[in-house]
Amino acid sequence: MTRLAVVPGDGIGPEVIAQALETVTALRIGIEFDVLDHINAGTFLRTGVALSEEDFTRIAGCDAVLLGAVGDPRVITPAYARGVLLSLRSRLDLYANVRPARLLHDDLSPLRDRANRGIDCVIVRENTEGLYGGSLHRMSGAEVAIDIEVSTARGVRRIVEHAFSLARRGMCMVDKSNAVPSGGALWQRIWRETAADHPNVATYHLFADVAAMRLVADPTEFDVIVTNNSFDDILSDLAAQIAGGLGTAASANVNPDTGFCLCEPVHGSAPDITGTGTANPVGAILSAALLLEHLGYGSEAKAVRSAVDRAVAAGHRTPDLGGSLTTQQAGSAVRAEL
Ligand code: ATP
Ligand code: MG
Repeated sequence: MTRLAVVPGDGIGPEVIAQALETVTALRIGIEFDVLDHINAGTFLRTGVALSEEDFTRIAGCDAVLLGAVGDPRVITPAYARGVLLSLRSRLDLYANVRPARLLHDDLSPLRDRANRGIDCVIVRENTEGLYGGSLHRMSGAEVAIDIEVSTARGVRRIVEHAFSLARRGMCMVDKSNAVPSGGALWQRIWRETAADHPNVATYHLFADVAAMRLVADPTEFDVIVTNNSFDDILSDLAAQIAGGLGTAASANVNPDTGFCLCEPVHGSAPDITGTGTANPVGAILSAALLLEHLGYGSEAKAVRSAVDRAVAAGHRTPDLGGSLTTQQAGSAVRAEL
């Protein structure tokens, strides 16, 4: 029996996760949910604990985690979000962040050129090091501040290898080796070594600035993009936006070695619309699809994705996609297509 830990979290998290769970339940594949709905900002404010050891053990004992959103305007300290999400990511060593950017319907893309709307790519992010992972290597003074970008051969190799495992048509490595030479040289060397082991995949390299341009000018050229923590942060938001927006974007944080994964919609807790019943559940439902795929339910994942496509194409949309459905109605429309 597959056991799924569910952390609905804060804000619209519980609203969209409810739709994702109903969708998984509708598949009748017997996944057991372990819902940890006490992990939220209210608990943190009361107890000062973001994630207890007991909860961590409970989550780590499951096969995967589905997370809604972590964040609340009442909690200004980053200790809370870090204490939940970053501690799960680092303690479970979920080193690969995988974000598909697939356009659900032509009319959702802001791109002018119709020919550029067949967007279907996956952006793979190194999740543990780089510029964001070097918190121990910072110096900040009144006049000079230094942040250090750390890349290790082990870190680069394992993320590049995982990206190759996802490649269908082609693999693009993105760096800025012309301006950041040390880390760039390491990425370049490991990229070339790993690419040599995959002669059947078309490989190429782009500088980060050029990659941003090309993603807008010709997004259909991309299949898998692999890059470091900070470039991916920017490129994957860009890709999410040209593929229909924040409300539809899903992500997986994976450790390919242990098989454990944490899936979550890309959006945050959206306090501005919490409780209005207008949050788009598609990002959460597609996160559940990513999770199903990861757990070996490939055909079910595909069924969920195409049900989402049909519902969106038929105009069953929440306000962020120009429709007028509620979260619940948009989720029901997807299940009706299933
Ligand atoms: P966090 O710090 O938790 O990441 P954030 O401030 O970066 O939060 P979001 O919470 O993702 O950002 O919200 C950004 C904007 O997008 C808000 O205006 C929010 O209402 C909107 N938004 C986010 N998710 C959805 C969704 N699922 N459906 C509709 N609108 C959404
Ligand atoms: Mg955010």
